[in-house]
Amino acid sequence: MFNTKVVQPSRLEPEAKFKFRCHPKVPCFTKCCSNIDIMLTPYDVLRLKNRLGITSDKFIEDHTFMRIDDKSNHLYAYLKMGSDEEKRCPFLESAEAGCSIYTDRPVSCRYYPIGQGLVKVEGEDKQTTHEEFYFFVREEHCKGYDEPDQWTIASWRDDQDSEHYDQMNLEWKQLLMRRDLPGAAKLDENKQMQFFMASYDLDRFRQYVFDSGLLDRFEISEDEIEAMRTDEVALMKFGFRYLKFLLLLEETLQLKK
Ligand code: SF4
Ligand code: SF4
Repeated sequence: MFNTKVVQPSRLEPEAKFKFRCHPKVPCFTKCCSNIDIMLTPYDVLRLKNRLGITSDKFIEDHTFMRIDDKSNHLYAYLKMGSDEEKRCPFLESAEAGCSIYTDRPVSCRYYPIGQGLVKVEGEDKQTTHEEFYFFVREEHCKGYDEPDQWTIASWRDDQDSEHYDQMNLEWKQLLMRRDLPGAAKLDENKQMQFFMASYDLDRFRQYVFDSGLLDRFEISEDEIEAMRTDEVALMKFGFRYLKFLLLLEETLQLKK
């Protein structure tokens, strides 16, 4: 997502302090919104397609390009930059006005200039949990670090509503970590497409859930089925459970007898 040369190598705790402010008067305002790789999460796509009032497949077609992770064959969606010389983000309204979809901007735009990662941690009871960690991204053009406002990672996350996004994305990020599991196989084409559909193409996944007979194969409560019909977040989260089952990561679903 970031040029690794600009990532500072220390792992930061939530109480780590830094000075930063981004506002329309900084000389670099919106310089970080061109020619960048923004990997999208499922919740980013959900928010953005609704913001634009279009279906998920239209959003994917118009606003994303794909990359395959060589190790796992996972297919990831990235935000497509403009075809102008600067390769500006299509959501950059103007160099003065900034981001036109600010309240729905992707999670990596929210975190910037902080990056985040996830690691598996084994407790004394041998139970495995996942822990977030953070690092600074220091790009030369970013003058926000010269501003006097003092933050901690925790207060920055609060300010950017990142906790909500992290809760939405946690189970999906756990799925991505399968690439580092010893012996994890590359996805075949069928699983790769299912991974992509359940991750990003929510409207198509809804059709798949309700029209393909999938609900006849698994034990799923009526309440959950109703939630998936009416609430896209519930559908997205079911998609993560489905993928964990499909990729043999966890027994998140039970087959009907
Ligand atoms: S480069 Fe840094 S300070 Fe400048 S607009 Fe982007 S985030 Fe803000
Ligand atoms: S989505 Fe908004 S904040 Fe993110 S790169 Fe595009 S214009 Fe900038």
